Amino acid sequence: MRLTVVGCAGSFPGPGVACSSYLVEFDGFRLLLDLGNGALGALQSFCDPRDVDALVISHLHGDHWLDVVPLAYARPHHPDGRVPDPLPLYVPDAGPLTTVLRRDVDRLQAVFDVRPIADGVIGPFAVRFHRTDHPVATYAIRVEAQGRSMGYTADTAWLDPLVEFFSGVDLLLAEATFPPDDDHVAPPPPGLHLNASEAGEFARRAGARRLVVTHIPPWADVERHRAAAEKIFGGPTIAARPALRVDL
Ligand SMILES: [Zn+2]
Ligand SMILES: [Zn+2]
Repeated sequence: MRLTVVGCAGSFPGPGVACSSYLVEFDGFRLLLDLGNGALGALQSFCDPRDVDALVISHLHGDHWLDVVPLAYARPHHPDGRVPDPLPLYVPDAGPLTTVLRRDVDRLQAVFDVRPIADGVIGPFAVRFHRTDHPVATYAIRVEAQGRSMGYTADTAWLDPLVEFFSGVDLLLAEATFPPDDDHVAPPPPGLHLNASEAGEFARRAGARRLVVTHIPPWADVERHRAAAEKIFGGPTIAARPALRVDL
């Protein structure tokens, strides 16, 4: 299994960094987790957007789904005439998304095969979901293939059941939006995001083998967040950046 970071900026894009989007590949299958604003451009550095086999949207905040709108143009209109099958699109609440898409897309069903979030099989992957603590319906994702596993927190505040959900993953992709505890800033507002220390604590308690911290806002010191998470985790910790590839 291979993870490629397409975009990783938290809440809004930075210069040269798109919002959340992660490509997970195994056995030739391309599963995309989130497609935030700016990510469709970056995605083309790694594959033809028509060759994405399934797309999971963790939640309907713009930094996780807005580029689904231009994707609806990029898939069916290439001048070479090759039009892919409708893209399986897993989304927590299809209503708002399809309302927006219908303004741009005449035949939505020809472009997307919209499906609800549910545990199951997507291509070669066994995929499980767990509701997070975030202002809109949001799902953390656990992806497994051939004995390897990856967890993605999506957006969440600290939530004890997620520790068990991510138990023993080979790689935890954890949001680390807020500054670490020892920055002595005001405590983060409840029910929104992890701070960098909590991202490390998740990885430590879940027994993850490796940690990638992500969803760090462009105004933050990424290395400071990474180092704080690593200090708590005690294991190998990488900061997400565009085009980062991790094989697991
Ligand atoms: Zn977000
Ligand atoms: Zn969010």
